Order: sequence, then structure tokens, then C-alpha cells
Amino acid sequence: MRRVTELDAVVLGLGASGFASACHLAAAGQRVAIIDSRDQPPREAELRDRYPGIPVHTGGFDDALIARAAEIVISPGLDPRHPAIREARRRGQSVIGEVELFARSVDAPVMAITGSNGKSTVTRMLAAMAGSAGVDAVAGGNLGPPALTLLESRPDAALFILELSSFQLESTVSLKPQVAAVLNLSPDHLDRYDGMAEYAAAKARILQGAGHAVLNADDDWVRGMDDGSTPVSWFSAGQASGAARWRLGHVDGVDWLMHDDQPLLQQRALPAMGRHNALNALAALAMGEAASWPMPSMCRALEAFQPLPHRGEQLGIHCDRRWINDSKATNAASAAAAVAGMEQPVVLIAGGDAKGQSFELLAAALAERGRAAVVFGRDADALARALASSAPVECVADLKTAVEAARRLSRPGDAVLLSPACASLDQYTDYRARGEHFRALVEALADE
Ligand code: ADP
Repeated sequence: MRRVTELDAVVLGLGASGFASACHLAAAGQRVAIIDSRDQPPREAELRDRYPGIPVHTGGFDDALIARAAEIVISPGLDPRHPAIREARRRGQSVIGEVELFARSVDAPVMAITGSNGKSTVTRMLAAMAGSAGVDAVAGGNLGPPALTLLESRPDAALFILELSSFQLESTVSLKPQVAAVLNLSPDHLDRYDGMAEYAAAKARILQGAGHAVLNADDDWVRGMDDGSTPVSWFSAGQASGAARWRLGHVDGVDWLMHDDQPLLQQRALPAMGRHNALNALAALAMGEAASWPMPSMCRALEAFQPLPHRGEQLGIHCDRRWINDSKATNAASAAAAVAGMEQPVVLIAGGDAKGQSFELLAAALAERGRAAVVFGRDADALARALASSAPVECVADLKTAVEAARRLSRPGDAVLLSPACASLDQYTDYRARGEHFRALVEALADE
């Protein structure tokens, strides 16, 4: 027997993507209601201003209301194992996300990027390349603005470039990107997944129906996503990794980004430093090539591409040290990549909420480049134990004291790198607030 439904959709969660979904559905004349477990969801006033007729239920999930909808639209922040969502699935209700609504409405081609680290950077690199190739592209998704907001503000755009998280991909079925990239996979968000295989499966969904894939040949998990059904451009840091036509190479004593045996761009010509950013640039080049963009204009865009705020962001020279804000490095793999990419000895500042991760990769990178480490925040002790065999470690209470300690432990010509390897939520509202605080502390340092 078919269930009788009174609502076309219930949107669960009124953050940025829930707001965009609700507006999109209401504009399409659908009967929609919102539910949020918080008493005062962030976008409530804005939604009431724009669509006063949409009912907003706060303070908990009303299962009876959810049961009355044909489709449930969940926000990426919501764990799909939540009992209300499990129950909806059991009743046979379709459970989708904001990106699925976007996919159903968009006509223009889409390029999509996922991975544990580097998504925002590659998304922005690709947008810069599109601009320099004369393609009228807009970029957003996970880093914002939400995909549906892009579609609403620029319905005429020739190309949509989307950064997608595993949470967004879980609730997306019909995206079919023209080109899709998976940059890398390292342990993250394992509080939401039953192991790496499930996390990898969520990421691999980006390849469903894709016209072309760009994949990291050096990453076992990513290599495993190639099922032979989609043409693949492989990229690699290795000099001789067979299938990878996009690679880093060393020619006449100089490090290059290469395509086959053709040197394209010197690594040191990239303002975004480190090998991880050279790999990000290779992935972006491979995506651009799949869309037939001209190589010279893509290289020009990369030469002008400045790192995004809080991602290897140079704060300048103070007290004869180079200060770098990499607050967005919220897991061990990203901090390890940042440390490994340093050219001079580095004093690392790390700490926060470690999310139960292992720090082996970071310890190995620190052993190579580290002058010292200063650790702070909730999991400072765990970090100190993990890093102690790689470099001298000092444990402090907060970032202010960490900056003072790093200043003392470093020598002229060194770099001081905030790359926390941890979430910030024990002491800050998010990684941006942590990075801004670091910037203010660094700017306040008196030059000797
Ligand atoms: P995401 O959007 O996936 O979080 P970002 O581009 O915002 O990625 O970069 C976040 C952090 O991850 C950076 O600050 C840097 O420390 C690290 N990072 C960037 N690209 C890579 C990469 N390709 N591999 C490993 N770490 C990376």
C-alpha cells in the first residue's frame, strides 16, 4: 500500500545547505517543512523573512512530521545513522541531500572534487584556471557557497565547480560530473564511519556516472576506486609510476610539474608551497585538460594562485622567522604534508581535539624537518607523546603561550608553522577563529 504524504519534502537541519534546499524547494512550489534539533537554528530568521509560509519546527526531530513527507533532505552535518533517518529509510522514504537537489536541476556541466585534504585548494585552483581559459565558471559546494545557492545566483553559468565532502556524497545519487577528482584518502571523520572502507565508499560515489576521473596513483584507497568503467587521468608524486601521466619530476636539477616527459611548470613558480600543493596543481591540470582547456593559460593561472587563508598562508617575517598559518590542517595527514613541504627547519605548533587519530605520519615528517614542536589544547599530552621521539616538544596551555614558546625555540631563518593536526573546537568556534587568533598574535610580536 502506498503511504499518503502531505508534504513533498522535509528538510532536516537549517544551516547553509538546509536553507538553500528549503528556498529551492519553496521556489519550485513544493510543500516543504523544516526540522532542526536546535532551539535556534542559524538561518531561521532569514528563512522566515524570505518564505514566511514554511513551517519551521525546532528543538528536536518530530518523527510523525518526518513520516508525512515524500522525501527527506538531510544536512551534511547530520549523521545518517541518526534513529530518525534510519526510521525514514525503513519506511521507504527517499533520503537525499542538497547536492542531489542541485544535480536534478542543473543543466550545465559540473566538475567535482573530493578527498580528505586539498579539496578547497584544488576547487579554487580550477576556478582560477577556468577564468583564465575564458570559461564562465562558478565554484562552491562544501567550502561554500552551497551548490544550490550558486545555481540560484548564477543559473546561466557555463560550468559549476564543486568541492564535495564524503557527507555530501552519501546523499547524492544523480550528479554525473563531467570530470571528478579524488585527491587522497587518510583517516578522518572515522567517528561517522565504520572504518576506512566505508569512508572510501562514500568518497568513491563521486565517480558514479562521471565522464572522466582524475585519481591519485600514490594512494592505495584511491587506486582501488578505479573499476574500469570511467577513463582515468592518474597523477603521482613519483618519477616513474607507470600509468601516471601527470607527475612531479626532476629535470636538470630543477623540480617540475610534468605531463609525460614534458616539463610544464617549475614547482617553485607556484606561490602555494609544498609538495602537497604541487600535487593539488597536478590534479587541477589533469581536470582542466580533460575539459580541453589550453595548457599555457592553466599554467599562468597556477603561477598567480595564492594559497587560501589558513592553508599554508604566509604571515610574513617577524623576529627573523617566517610565520605560516595552516590552521585548516585539522588532521594528521594534512599537518604532515605541510611540515614535509617546508624548506627550512620548522618549529611546529599543533594541538586541539585529536579525534582519536594516530600521529605517526606527522612524527615522521617532523623527524625530517622539525627544530621543535609546541603542543597545546585538549590533546596536548597525546601529541607530545607521539612527537617526542622526532623533536624536542614543549607542552603549553594555549596558542598565545605556544607562539611565545615557538619564538624562543626557533632560530633566525627558521619557519614557525601553525598546522594543528587537530580540530579546533575545544578552544575555538572553528579553524578560522584559530587562524585569525594566530595572525593577531604574530602581528603583535615585536621585531627585535
Ligand atoms: P580541504 O578542503 O580538503 O580541507 P584544503 O585545501 O582546505 O583542503 O587544505 C586543508 C589543509 O590540508 C591545508 O592547510 C594543508 O595543510 C593540507 N593539504 C592541502 N592539500 C593537501 C594534499 N594534497 N595532501 C595532504 N594535505 C594537504
